[in-house]
Amino acid sequence: MIGVAILGSTGTIGENTLDVIARHPERFRAVALGARRDVTKMLAQCERFRPDYAALAETDAAATLERELRARGLPTRVLAGGQGLEHIATLKEAPAVMAGIVGAAGLPSTLAAARAGQRLMIANKESLVMAGPLLLALARASGATLLPIDSEHNAIFQCLPPGLEAGRAPPGVRRILLTASGGPFLDWSAERIAQATPEQACKHPKWVMGRKISVDSATLMNKGLEVIEARILFGLALEQVEVVVHRQSLVHSLVEYVDGSMLAQLGSPDMRTPIAHALGWPERIDSGVESLDLARAGTLQFEPPDMARFPCLALAREAARAGGTAPAVLNAANEVAVAAFLEGRLNFSGIAAVIEAVVRDCPAGTAEDLDSVLAADADARRRALREVGGAGVTV
Ligand code: MG
Repeated sequence: MIGVAILGSTGTIGENTLDVIARHPERFRAVALGARRDVTKMLAQCERFRPDYAALAETDAAATLERELRARGLPTRVLAGGQGLEHIATLKEAPAVMAGIVGAAGLPSTLAAARAGQRLMIANKESLVMAGPLLLALARASGATLLPIDSEHNAIFQCLPPGLEAGRAPPGVRRILLTASGGPFLDWSAERIAQATPEQACKHPKWVMGRKISVDSATLMNKGLEVIEARILFGLALEQVEVVVHRQSLVHSLVEYVDGSMLAQLGSPDMRTPIAHALGWPERIDSGVESLDLARAGTLQFEPPDMARFPCLALAREAARAGGTAPAVLNAANEVAVAAFLEGRLNFSGIAAVIEAVVRDCPAGTAEDLDSVLAADADARRRALREVGGAGVTV
C-alpha cells in the first residue's frame, strides 16, 4: 500500500488524482490532503477518503474544517497555514506526493517534498519555472524521484528511454516538440482577442482546467511556461524545445532523435492518464480514461504558433534565454496580470503588456537560493500591480 499526499486536492489535478486512487483501493491510500480554503470540498473528500491529515493554507478555513470534522466524528488531523502544507509534503507514511497547487503558492510545499526525498509528481509547473535548478539540486541530494504530470512533459517522459536522471540531457535527442491546443482564441483576429472576456478565455476547447491555467492557455503563456519547464526537466538547450499547435489535443508531445525518428504519446485529453502513469510508474495502471478512437478522430493537424497574436510565447522564450531570476519575474508578472484580468481590472491584451513592462524593468539576478527567487518574485509582483493600476483598462 502506497500512501499519497495531494497538495491541491480540491483543484482539478487533485480531484483527478483522487479519482485514480479510488480505482485502486488495494494499492493506494490518500493519507494527506491539502488545499487553500475550500472547506466544503475538503470536508466531502475527508468523509469519502478518510485521510489522516487535512491541511488548509488559510487558517480561518482550517478552523472551520476542524469544527465540521469533529461534529461528524471524523478523526482527520487538521493542519493550518503554509507550514501545514509543507508538513504533509514530507510525511514518511505518504512518500508519493502530488504537487497540484497552482502558481507560486505551490513552491514551498513542492520544495519541501523534494528536500524530503519523496516520489514527487509535479503538476505545479510554476515551481520548475521559478526555481527549477534549485528543485533539481534538492531532489538530487535527497534522492527524490521527479515525475512530470503536465500532460506534455509526461508525454515526453514516456517517449524518452527509461532510467534518465531529471535535468540531465537524454542521449540521442535532437529536439522535443511541445504540442499546444492553441486555446480558445486560435482563430480570432488580434482585435477580437484584445477584447476577450474572462468567460471566453476560460472556455477551453479541449481540456477542463482551473481558471488561471485556462487564461494561460488562451494567451499561450501556458506553453511558454512549459518551454521553460521542459528545458529544466530534460536538461535541453532552449533551441531544442519547440512548440507546435495541434488543435485536436490528441498528440500530447513528441521527441525527435538524431536518427530522424519521432516518438509521440497519444491519448484522450484527460489528466487521469499522466496521473495514473506517475502513480503507477514504472508499472501501468488503469486510469478510467476511455480509449482513443483514432478512426473517429480522423485528422491530426499541426501548425506553427502565431507569435504576433500571442506575444506571451516570445516573452517566455526571452525569459528562458535570460535565465537566473528572469523566469520567476515572468511568472510573477503573469500571475498578477491574469488575476487582474479575471477580476475585470485589465483587458486581455493588457496581460502581455504588463508582463513585457515588468520583465523589461526587472534586472535578472542569479537564482542560487530560495530567498533570491522569492525576492525577485515579490519585486515583480509589486511592479506588476503598479502596471495594472497604471493601465487602468477594464473590460
Ligand atoms: Mg500542459
